[in-house]
Amino acid sequence: MSARRAGVPVRSDLAERSGYHSPQVDVEVRLNTNESPFAPPDSWRAELAEEIGRIEFNRYPDRDATALRRTVGASHGVGADQVFCANGSNEVLQSLFLAYGGPGRRVALFEPTYALHRHIAEVTNTDVVHGWRQRDFRLDLDEVEAVLAESEPVITFLCSPNNPTGGAEPAEVVRRVLDLAPGLVVVDEAYGQFAPTSALDLRAERVEGSERLVVIRTFSKTWSMAACRLGYLVAEADVVQACTMVALPYHLDAVTQAAGRLALRHQDEMHRRVAVVVEERGRLTAGLADLPVEAWPSDANFILFRPTRRDASQVWQDLLSQSVLVRDCTTWPGVEGCLRVTVGTPEENTRFLDALRRALEPA
Ligand code: PMP
Repeated sequence: MSARRAGVPVRSDLAERSGYHSPQVDVEVRLNTNESPFAPPDSWRAELAEEIGRIEFNRYPDRDATALRRTVGASHGVGADQVFCANGSNEVLQSLFLAYGGPGRRVALFEPTYALHRHIAEVTNTDVVHGWRQRDFRLDLDEVEAVLAESEPVITFLCSPNNPTGGAEPAEVVRRVLDLAPGLVVVDEAYGQFAPTSALDLRAERVEGSERLVVIRTFSKTWSMAACRLGYLVAEADVVQACTMVALPYHLDAVTQAAGRLALRHQDEMHRRVAVVVEERGRLTAGLADLPVEAWPSDANFILFRPTRRDASQVWQDLLSQSVLVRDCTTWPGVEGCLRVTVGTPEENTRFLDALRRALEPA
């Protein structure tokens, strides 16, 4: 029987798009989507199970996620009015675009960077202007100045540490961007806990312009909760209100709200997980230094590298045939020929390094 189609054309500007996806392949060592390699603490799981037993499933959840926002805010020394929570930081990003972007509005970003910033801009019909990072992937502040002066974007996006290149922006760079940007400066800190600096400090210090600074975080990485879909931003109350206005009613379900609130009782265990990942990142960096690849210093839980003697797509395939999956960035603008590996458990990292050594051997 032939497959049926509705046959109604989608928006013409979307017709050519393929969406943003990472292949979910069944492998033994999955190092392609920057999740935590560790399960959350057993005590968190037990507390969540107990809490789920008390949820009134026939009722809608707290629409304002007040208890969660209060707890998240307290962890950063701010009130609930400065926190907006959503289904992963991707939904936080989408909310910002819905509230501040749209037809006739422009945002700026600096490539190569997290592809979803551009993707959501395009889906929401927001114009994108972009500049390029330097050869070492650091921001070129002259380029930033030129792009922002010419385009006057409503939002300037930074990503720190930057996905997929791994480096965090030093505080003085974010301060300079705040000086130069006319609108909001959104710093996507999905990997913030792995880095030595955070734009949250600039907000706490109330530096010049920091009322326009929006910092995004997620529970998907450090907090070992990618399955839950929970992210948030910290910003001034008017930004929170704007995002709340465009969010769907009851968009954040009761289980996710409870999961996030309870997770914050386990900060010590989360910090221990981060410490292991940072240590393993050092071991991976040292391992890559012994191989014929160019690798960039990382402040995140992943490392970008480029094989120098073998074709990167072939290396990706060879790794896959050894049941090791990394991210294939070979066709991404600005990182052509590169692969990105997520820091895994010590055993996974050893498997990866051994498999990569074999994949890089001359045929
Ligand atoms: N921002 C960046 C820079 C990311 O790399 C990711 C995950 N790929 C996200 C946001 C989205 O994370 P989540 O929606 O799981 O919170």
